Amino acid sequence: MHLFQNMHKEYKGLALRRLLWKAARATTLSEFNLHMNQMKEVSPNCYEWLMQKPREQWSRSAFRTTSHSDMFVNNHCEVFNSSLSKLRDLHIITMFRELHKTIMKRIQIRRDKMITTNAVICPSAHKKLTKSIHYAGNCVVTWSGGSSYSVTSSDGGHELVVNLLKRTCACRKWDLTGLPCYHACACIALRNEPWENYIHDCYKKETYLQLYGHTLEPIVGPEFWEDTPEPKPLAPAVKIPAGRPKK
Ligand SMILES: [Zn+2]
Repeated sequence: MHLFQNMHKEYKGLALRRLLWKAARATTLSEFNLHMNQMKEVSPNCYEWLMQKPREQWSRSAFRTTSHSDMFVNNHCEVFNSSLSKLRDLHIITMFRELHKTIMKRIQIRRDKMITTNAVICPSAHKKLTKSIHYAGNCVVTWSGGSSYSVTSSDGGHELVVNLLKRTCACRKWDLTGLPCYHACACIALRNEPWENYIHDCYKKETYLQLYGHTLEPIVGPEFWEDTPEPKPLAPAVKIPAGRPKK
């Protein structure tokens, strides 16, 4: 997101914007190069500027497959930050106490919401899987007899290799996310096995509940706090900027 904002300051236009997002979403090097070559035709300067940025920091095509995350936007940090904006102007101790309560409540709400869910995997992962199963019908699968399958997708006719044992697909989506892509779903469907067997543990309800199993303990108010022999901290020097204060 910050990369896009920086790019937009110097190189404007809808075509460049679309190509940047396409290159960022690309999961393979060939797909990345395809969009970047199109960008080179639209704006060679923008292409050069972007190629100097480390690809592993902004394009899925260079992300590691160990973290099972294909996120390239920091929206979740922004959402968390905006929830804290109300607390920023408070006195530091009051701010920490309010922050503590906010996180304590957040853990409880998220855990209880998941407990009431009947699904084996988390709702957002389930939604993505359902979409992949829907598109799996567009694939023609040829089985090698082992754990590998040749998959031809009807959109573009790409020929890919899926390995169900290694949990990989040539499109790299399964490797990156831990959730089977639609090519992989087409192969799994032939096996007549539960989908959950091919989904990474990080998406399972059981894992989620383990993560949220540790509650944040409440803290008593300052009137119950013990006095410390340490000297009291001094208030920082305040510089009053010129002009009318914003708040
Ligand atoms: Zn795939």
